[in-house]
Amino acid sequence: MKIRLLMPSVDPQSRLQFTVSVLIDEHIAIDTGGLPYLGCIDAQRAVDHVLLTHSHIDHIGGLPLFLDNIYAPSPECPSVYAGEATWKCLEDHVFNDQVWPNLERIAGTEFPFYRKQIVDAHRPIKIAGYQVTPIPLEHIVPTLGYVFESETGSALFAWDTAPFLEFDKIVQSIPNLKIIFLDASFPNQMQWLAEKSLHTTPGQFQRQIEHVAPDVRIIAVHLKPGFHDQVSQELNSLGMSNVEVACRDRVYEI
Ligand SMILES: [Zn+2]
Ligand SMILES: [Zn+2]
Repeated sequence: MKIRLLMPSVDPQSRLQFTVSVLIDEHIAIDTGGLPYLGCIDAQRAVDHVLLTHSHIDHIGGLPLFLDNIYAPSPECPSVYAGEATWKCLEDHVFNDQVWPNLERIAGTEFPFYRKQIVDAHRPIKIAGYQVTPIPLEHIVPTLGYVFESETGSALFAWDTAPFLEFDKIVQSIPNLKIIFLDASFPNQMQWLAEKSLHTTPGQFQRQIEHVAPDVRIIAVHLKPGFHDQVSQELNSLGMSNVEVACRDRVYEI
């Protein structure tokens, strides 16, 4: 499994996570912030599975542009996976002919823009050879994280979440867990905002991962761009060798 962060910025040197989305093996995306700005159209057309965590704009905002970029009148189209609440928001507030065309209506069923897939927490599905299990996170709208299991190891993707009680239980239940991508949005001094928006500070991050085995890599994501350096410093000062801040140039391989 090869995982890359898709961080949209016109500056190739930028380390800032203006939005969070990841690409797995070049054909699966989780969230869409950077997806419509990925390389060339062929690279975007190679993505045939898109999983959404929740309805906030930094996660779904790239979806209408991505679908438009890759559209060709053919029966082939990507599958888009999301929970019921996220689909309702997309259909009511995005694909409503005002914010963006209602793509189901204009394309019909012969040459669709996307194939709608509804996922439920704790109900595993098969995607491109992986077992993928959505898990409920703790955010201000219904939000899912995803566990990817493969023969070479498993990965947990959990951002846009406050610390939550089930975390330890979920982590212990994942076979051969190798890597976790975990929310670290606001610096410690902005704990009040992390609590109100249901995100995580480095202090909470440390407590959340207390029982994670030290050989599991933990990648901090969703650092708010205006506080990137401060959050990075606070994470570095934890002195944990298995914790690192997500980097756009790196391919995380398990
Ligand atoms: Zn977000
Ligand atoms: Zn959010």
